[in-house]
Amino acid sequence: MIDTKRIRGDFPILARKENGQRLVYLDNAATSQKPRRVLDAIAHYYSEHNANVHRGAYALAVEATDAYEAARTAVSRFVNAWAREGVVFTRGTTEGINLVAGSWGRANVSRGDTVVVTAMDHHSNIVPWQILCQEKGATLRMVEITGDGRIDLADFGRALEAKPKLVAFPYVSNSLGTVNPAAQLTKLAHAAGAVTVVDGAQSSPHLRVDVRTIGCDFYAFSGHKMLAPMGSGALIAKPELLEAMPPYHGGGEMIERVWDDRSTWNKIPHKFEGGTPNVEAAVGLAVAIAYLEQLGLEHVAEHEQQLARVAVERLSQIEGITIYGPRDHRAGVVPFTYGDIHPHDLATILDRDGVCIRAGHHCTQPLMRRLGVAATARASFYIYNDVDDIESLVAAVRKAGELFRVLAS
Ligand code: PMP
Repeated sequence: MIDTKRIRGDFPILARKENGQRLVYLDNAATSQKPRRVLDAIAHYYSEHNANVHRGAYALAVEATDAYEAARTAVSRFVNAWAREGVVFTRGTTEGINLVAGSWGRANVSRGDTVVVTAMDHHSNIVPWQILCQEKGATLRMVEITGDGRIDLADFGRALEAKPKLVAFPYVSNSLGTVNPAAQLTKLAHAAGAVTVVDGAQSSPHLRVDVRTIGCDFYAFSGHKMLAPMGSGALIAKPELLEAMPPYHGGGEMIERVWDDRSTWNKIPHKFEGGTPNVEAAVGLAVAIAYLEQLGLEHVAEHEQQLARVAVERLSQIEGITIYGPRDHRAGVVPFTYGDIHPHDLATILDRDGVCIRAGHHCTQPLMRRLGVAATARASFYIYNDVDDIESLVAAVRKAGELFRVLAS
């Protein structure tokens, strides 16, 4: 079980008071807070081992390289990657998806081809494909969602009839909390001959992810949503795909030989890691993974789903609240609107009570259009949240409602 009281003690920022009240941080889908162990690991790295990696012949450089490569092994185990050479460190999900679009996409998508995404995708899993399709004269097909916020499987099937080159979808939606049947979608896409890209930004922090069980070809995630530093993350890929792909960024470290007019490439994954990498991010990510694995991802998922159930139940008792997303198959994300109070106003008022929630389109404008709203408020939970946080949220929302009623009268 998750012992939130003990866990809260590991997060220095949670000791902060907001207007004299306990900080209620419910914007975990945007980014998580960081435990002291991760902060200490970063300080330790810079205090004891810092040097540029893969280059130096001296002890410090070897230590830095070892720490960086050990982090790759940790990531590889964490997601059950096909091989540790199939783990490319990135700045996060956005960079991972752009890498696939810019490299695999440029090499394999041509005029007249189709790329499929879903209407619940984050802009980072839409815009790179738009750019690719516009450049290549290919078609981007967006699969519709059902009324209760799931991928419409009938429309998914229709989209596959075009024999798309590539199908991309989120494992977990950041705007709805929907947990999609990733293995099933991958199987269907493969049967249609497509390569699959899974956006794991909202799954890796919250669920036990096994890329081999999902069976996808590419899986991208961000470290900062799972206790690790900003600018950390990885793209997990089948090694044979990476081998065949052209480089993404040219520069140091990704080459084998450079002549005046051409170059040959380093082995994977280094072929895709041009320039000095963010070693501190990789080191912090490995420590974050160890922290989550110690808790057990199954317990993490159960804890958040329980909080989401309580939040849905308690918020539903307030008249005028609309909650979006499915009833079940929901991660710890609860999007809602409250009458005609603008979600931004609601979030600003909640902040006065130390309650941090997100308001806006959550980088999912096509989804917002389908929901018929410009924005929603969103509470999202993590390991340090508890039922007291939900009570604070509900009390602050009720208070905001009263304030607006007074203002309107
Ligand atoms: N996909 C989803 C589903 C997300 O929630 C996010 C972050 N909000 C991203 C992609 C992008 O992640 P990052 O900004 O860390 O690259």
